[in-house]
Amino acid sequence: MKTQLGRVLFARLTILLLYTPAGILITWSAQAMQEVEERADLTLPDIAAVHTEPGQAPVILYNPVLCHHAGRTLCEFYRYHEYGHLELRHHKRNDISIQQEEREADRWAATHAPLRVVMAAYRYFLNGGGSSPFHGEGRSRAARLLMSTESHVLSRGPAGYRRIREHVARAF
Ligand SMILES: [Zn+2]
Repeated sequence: MKTQLGRVLFARLTILLLYTPAGILITWSAQAMQEVEERADLTLPDIAAVHTEPGQAPVILYNPVLCHHAGRTLCEFYRYHEYGHLELRHHKRNDISIQQEEREADRWAATHAPLRVVMAAYRYFLNGGGSSPFHGEGRSRAARLLMSTESHVLSRGPAGYRRIREHVARAF
């Protein structure tokens, strides 16, 4: 049953990918990305993480070796995930659980990253990657990405559909 569900979800995401030009989903502020320092840290046990110190601007740390192993596109998803934490100001909140923060950061990344990036994370999570007590099971994360991305595309309304149709007309 879970395999069947996986196939259905994958098919739906593939359709979104085919009918959505790369970049159409980028709606976030590029300005916000440029204001945050990204720093390589070979000792970081994860691909990426937000690092905060009192009185200082938060920094996004990433491990270039783990990033390389994960692959550029998947690593990019993790980058968006960390920006999600920052945009949602998780480092300033203590009223929600870490698990909830991780779910929100996944959803944020799913609606702000280019679809090919979300797709790479979707495949990785669907195969069990990305599981942790805080992030949840990989398959749950995959389903979360799909639902967030799909509702984001649908919420764009007629203008979004028109742009998608124009893209398809050019592509074929
Ligand atoms: Zn996170």
